[in-house]
Formats: sequence, C-alpha cells, structure tokens
Amino acid sequence: MAKIVMASNNRHKITELAAFLHKLCPADANGEPYALLSLSDIGYAKEIIEDGNTFEENALIKARTVAALGYIGVADDSGLCVDALDGEPGVYSARWAGGHDDADNNRKLMEKMRDVPGDRRGAHFVSVIACAFPDGRTFTARGECPGVILDAPRGKGGFGYDPFFLYEPMGKTFAEMDAAEKNAVSHRARAMARFAEMFAHAAGEPETEKGEKI
Ligand code: IMP
Repeated sequence: MAKIVMASNNRHKITELAAFLHKLCPADANGEPYALLSLSDIGYAKEIIEDGNTFEENALIKARTVAALGYIGVADDSGLCVDALDGEPGVYSARWAGGHDDADNNRKLMEKMRDVPGDRRGAHFVSVIACAFPDGRTFTARGECPGVILDAPRGKGGFGYDPFFLYEPMGKTFAEMDAAEKNAVSHRARAMARFAEMFAHAAGEPETEKGEKI
C-alpha cells in the first residue's frame, strides 16, 4: 500500500484529506490504495519549526521533513488575512496574541478592528497544502475563502476566528455553520479539493529531475 504521511497529528484533518484524496485519486500507478498516516503513526515525535514567511513556505518545510524520511509528505498551513491589517495575522494566526489561545486572539482582533468602518472589514482565510515526494518534487495547493470581520462574535461552533468571520453569501459566520456547510465553502475544503486534483496528476507522472517543482 502506498503511504502518504501528513505532517500533523490532527486526526480530523487527516480523515478529511483522506476523503478528498480517495474520491479523486483512489489508487497509485500499481492500483494500490493510498494509506494516509500521521506523524505519530510513523513514530516521529520531534517538533518541526515553521519559520517561513508565507503559508506555502511553512507547509513545504513540514512536507519536506516527511519526504526526507522516505515517505510522500503532505502538510498544511492556514490562517486569517485581514485587509485593514495589511494581511495580519496571516502566518501568525495561531499564536497572534502570544499563546495558542483562541479567546486572546479574538480579543486582539476585536481591538485592532474597533475603529475600522464596515466597508473596510474585508478578510480571507487561506489554506495551503504542500506535497513533497522523496525524489524531491513538490507542489502546493491553495484555497481561499472571502469574508467580513464582525465587531461582535456570532455562533458557537467551529474554532479559532470562526465567530468573527462572516461568509456573506450564506449570511452566516463560520461558527454558525454546521460542518457540512463549512466544508462546502471553506478555504481548507477548497485547498483539499485542489490538492487531490494536483496529486492525481503528479502521482501519474514519471519522476522528474531532483528538486523540480511540479
Ligand atoms: P493551522 O494551520 O491549523 O495551524 O491553523 C493556524 C491558525 O489559523 C489556527 O490556529 C486558527 O487561529 C486559524 N485558522 C485556520 N483555519 C481556521 C478556520 O477554519 N477557522 C478559524 N480559524 C482558523
């Protein structure tokens, strides 16, 4: 069975990616189904330092770490980019307020956006999924979802910045959507669908020069 290792221990993300992948790319060139494993599945316990300046760089750092171990490496990086804040928090979304605390991050967002008028509150979520093959080939797939930052939270679901992020076509914040609704429009779902398409193409290609970008 062909093994893909996702540089994450988040079982939810891995299951979600496996569903997209199996739909678009059920088997490798030998007709074998892909098995999607986590870092702990392969006994990798070291922390991977994400010190890139872009979502693409961070996702590639993680995917390449796995590829160096001889597996097909897959990794994602995501965050919120707010127009009025010049794209902040961006790659710093998870620990923008100093720790890993969603409530602190959201308080910071509310404070920074307090005086921003309604017509300048645009933002988008970004998700980038990177793939690195042991032969050095890499590619990245990006998904984005546009929205507006509210001045007060709405909804109880989701995580992170969800309660402040209004997806206008549905008139709901991400925190007011159920999982199926969010998965139909989210940055992550869009990146995963694109990733699965690109992976199906890349996996069918002969190996290229070492390090070549697909
Ligand atoms: P990671 O890429 O999973 O590390 O996510 C980085 C950070 O971006 C998270 O900790 C959240 O603060 C934020 N983020 C990414 N995706 C979402 C989302 O779908 N909803 C809310 N916050 C998100």
